[in-house]
Amino acid sequence: MDLIPSFSVDHTKIIPGIYESRVDAQGDALVTTFDVRVKQPNAEPAIAPAAMHTMEHVVATYLRNHDEWKEKLVYWGPMGCLTGFYIIVKGRPAASEMYPILLDAFRYMRDYEGDVPGATPENCGNYLMHDLPMAKWEAARYVEYLETADKNAIFTYPKTQRPQLEGDRTFFDS
Ligand SMILES: [Zn+2]
Repeated sequence: MDLIPSFSVDHTKIIPGIYESRVDAQGDALVTTFDVRVKQPNAEPAIAPAAMHTMEHVVATYLRNHDEWKEKLVYWGPMGCLTGFYIIVKGRPAASEMYPILLDAFRYMRDYEGDVPGATPENCGNYLMHDLPMAKWEAARYVEYLETADKNAIFTYPKTQRPQLEGDRTFFDS
């Protein structure tokens, strides 16, 4: 594997989409982190924390019960900036290959009814901080965006190459 330069992403140019963020070697295997950008950073309101929390629970439940993806999923969780989520998977699928499963997951969130899974004091660190109606609204909006967006634009970050610095994220080209 060759080490290739890190890239920095100009957040003023990011549009919602599904983007490879980093690839890490774990022993002989690779794991890939994707940024699942739901909101345009700094240009529209971020997702409210309670809705974000509900989307974390419901989408995680979907992915962890999915016949194909439950084995490949390493992690699903919210970005601290509340504009999207991280998904970490085994291997190095292309962002476009993540599109169908993520579209399905957000459709599941959009259509979800009933109790938020895991929203109990035994299973969650802040079980009262949930907002299912807002989570459904956000998911519906993102699904519509993903369905209609230009597929040439939502899988590739605008990248600005810069020199490799010590402590930078490390990218491996498989
Ligand atoms: Zn929770």
